[in-house]
Amino acid sequence: MSLPKAKKVLISGASIAGPTLAFWLAKYGFAVTVVERSASLRLGGQNIDVNGPAQLIAQKMGIETAIRAANTGEVGLQLIGQNNQVAAAFPKESSMSGTQELEILRGDLVSILYEATKEAVNYRFGDSITGLEQHPDDVAVTFSSGKTERFQLVVAADGVRSSTRRLVFGEEPVFTYLGLYTAYLTIPRRESDNDWWRWYTAADRRIVMLRPDNQGTIRASVAFMEPGESYEKLPPEEQKRVLKTRLAGAGWEADRIINAIDETQDVYFDKIGQIKAPRWSAGRVAMIGDAAYCPTPLTGKGTTLAMVGAYLLAGELARHERYQDAFVAYEKRMRPYVEAVQKLPPGVPWLVYPKSHLGVSVLNAVAGLVASKPVQKLVSLFSPKPDDKQEDDGIDLPDYA
Ligand SMILES: Cc1cc2nc3c(=O)[nH]c(=O)nc-3n(C[C@H](O)[C@H](O)[C@H](O)COP(=O)(O)OP(=O)(O)OC[C@H]3O[C@@H](n4cnc5c(N)ncnc54)[C@H](O)[C@@H]3O)c2cc1C
Repeated sequence: MSLPKAKKVLISGASIAGPTLAFWLAKYGFAVTVVERSASLRLGGQNIDVNGPAQLIAQKMGIETAIRAANTGEVGLQLIGQNNQVAAAFPKESSMSGTQELEILRGDLVSILYEATKEAVNYRFGDSITGLEQHPDDVAVTFSSGKTERFQLVVAADGVRSSTRRLVFGEEPVFTYLGLYTAYLTIPRRESDNDWWRWYTAADRRIVMLRPDNQGTIRASVAFMEPGESYEKLPPEEQKRVLKTRLAGAGWEADRIINAIDETQDVYFDKIGQIKAPRWSAGRVAMIGDAAYCPTPLTGKGTTLAMVGAYLLAGELARHERYQDAFVAYEKRMRPYVEAVQKLPPGVPWLVYPKSHLGVSVLNAVAGLVASKPVQKLVSLFSPKPDDKQEDDGIDLPDYA
């Protein structure tokens, strides 16, 4: 592999996509700086999984053991019925379970990626890009700290609301609202809790979930359908009020979450939407992760896309003399995969958020049938065995080394 010409790269965002890209670029001989707006790593968030191609990348990075050691201990998925009974159960080993082999808290994965890169990469916390001026040989970058510096390439990995994306692509990328709001919070664990991912569907298009973690607490999430999209502009106290109002009367553990909302600092509340961008690069600036193609938590693939996009972009930059060719090759490999992941099954999210109690009962009855032994056995005949899963995930990862 020839040494690349573009050596100095700036990455905006130190979450999943940014540090994964930094890892590989540093390995290929680039001088990498990561700028993160927060004063320190943002370790919030809930249970995410590292599977399929992301697991292969973690293996190649030598971090799979650390990810495995931080497993949340989740044993599978249970759907809770309207009388608080288990309406359907999908143990981790079942091919239809949402629980994957490598379940980890988002914050733990961010820490692992940071630890794996901090020696080789220059991290700058508490700063962000405010201006980008493209020149024939480099990009002049202005930072909120007042610093200015030149880089050969800049990559936006700063999430679904990327301001770097806005600076370069303006209104061109589209945020497609899916009619859904979600809230995450961490609540104290009780004796009555267990290690299942418990999913409760309530009438009036609401879902409440409780998941175990490896820290002795419980990760709660709430989602509800909402045609308007302006709650995220409200101050945090107002958001909490909206959340409590929407949860009222939902049943099961909703009251416990309502009570916890006022006592918890880390309530994360946002609307759910996908980013669709007609191109992922302009001149010397490219995009990866949620900034470029956020698929939403509904797909369960946000982390996978972030890690795969980072791996491919780094590999193509190492492989090509000209960054323009690398950007084209990255997009050519990645775009069909992104389009497949972003395509939601028909009826999602409407079908899984019924309006009436009857709708909820029907949904749980269908799930109970699907989870039943005879149907599971039938499905397993047509599903890949766990060992086959990695090769069967829609994208071939080239070996760039
Ligand atoms: C605090 C937090 C909690 C999350 N919780 C969950 C969850 O529970 N479940 C789930 O499925 N997904 C969650 N996500 C989203 C999930 O991390 C992503 O969908 C996925 O992993 C892709 O990651 P990413 O690196 O592309 O973007 P993100 O994970 O969104 O990371 C973007 C990073 O860029 C930083 N940043 C933002 N703007 C700037 C700027 N202007 N300059 C510099 N840095 C900037 C952010 O602080 C953040 O560190 C969360 C994201 C965050 C930031």
